[in-house]
Amino acid sequence: RVKTKWAATRPTFPATELALHNFDTSYSIQLRDLWPSIRVAMLSEQKYGALINSFSSAPNVITELEAQGCKDFISIDCTRNEVHQSSLDSMTSHRDSAELDPAALQPSMSPDIKCLVFPKGDISRFNPARPDSSGILGYYLLDAASVLPVLALDVQPGHTVLDLCAAPGGKTLALLQTHSVNHLWANDLSGSRTMRLRRTLQSYLPKEFLEENKIHITSTDGRQLGMTEEKSFERVLVDVPCTTDRHSAMVEENNIFKRSRTKERQKLPLLQTQLLLAGIQATRGGGNIVYSTCSLSQLQNECVVQQAISLAQQELGITVQVQDLRWFAQCFSDTFHFAPQLSVGELVLPHLCANFGPIYMCKLQRMN
Ligand code: SAM
Repeated sequence: RVKTKWAATRPTFPATELALHNFDTSYSIQLRDLWPSIRVAMLSEQKYGALINSFSSAPNVITELEAQGCKDFISIDCTRNEVHQSSLDSMTSHRDSAELDPAALQPSMSPDIKCLVFPKGDISRFNPARPDSSGILGYYLLDAASVLPVLALDVQPGHTVLDLCAAPGGKTLALLQTHSVNHLWANDLSGSRTMRLRRTLQSYLPKEFLEENKIHITSTDGRQLGMTEEKSFERVLVDVPCTTDRHSAMVEENNIFKRSRTKERQKLPLLQTQLLLAGIQATRGGGNIVYSTCSLSQLQNECVVQQAISLAQQELGITVQVQDLRWFAQCFSDTFHFAPQLSVGELVLPHLCANFGPIYMCKLQRMN
């Protein structure tokens, strides 16, 4: 009885408060003096980007957004920040190159994606997208940094692509904007979220395109696809479930820091490693994998990547090499704030003047 009474009167803290407490404890050590300003940014309004839907025939979408002051950060940053060979050379010499392939420093990214953003420091909001005469929407609003893992995946014409954790579908839609995908398998464990993915695709893709059967949608545990679809894809996106730091700091609903979800949260790095391993296994030799999260946590980012690489070698005999993305961070440094000096991968840090992220991404190549 005493125990029950104690449990009943135990103070219940909001999950957002528990999340912030957890972040203050771990990120003040991990990010040191960067943490206070990242914290302020994460608690302020997030900035969006408009991913242009090239399947829509709505007129003047880009012109109207440009008239409001928006710019396509992808074409602008890539032209302005041409990556020079000298800076690539210095990148090769600085990094502990045991696990890096110098050839992988050659810049190449998925083509034809356009994402418009308001300039640095401008916190204007986008109007909702308008439909064309067939009801297809002109753009999709998302955290512009979440387009970066898709760009890094470097999808090229004819590729077969697996999107292992695809719902609600922002990155799936970005992958399709390349018009390079020969076949796309979009999977998500959650049935209700897979329904959301289907609805997203129906709102953004013409019926005829959906009927071409280029897209295969499933709702299964991605960890199984490693074995059942071994060596089947040239490109695999592993955008894993994570602590979704910005959401967890701001929104009570569906918050993974709720006491009832403690075990689920503690098991995240294990699930993430298993999903990345499955992604590696499903990739053809020579193919690429991009692992991504929307968390700042080293345990969910670099540690998962390092662990998956060594398990792939030890348990599956698969050699995986990290691809250097510093040219990529350099390219987009006018739009996003990147964390300095990560052991593997790149991390977009929330910043009051460019309040995107957090988004972590690491690109891998399967060698055999
Ligand atoms: N890529 C999506 C996008 O851009 O819209 C966001 C993906 S979200 C970060 C992670 C997703 O992983 C969630 O939709 C969740 O349902 C899904 N998930 C969780 N466990 C999974 C598993 N074992 N296999 C496949 N998907 C899983």
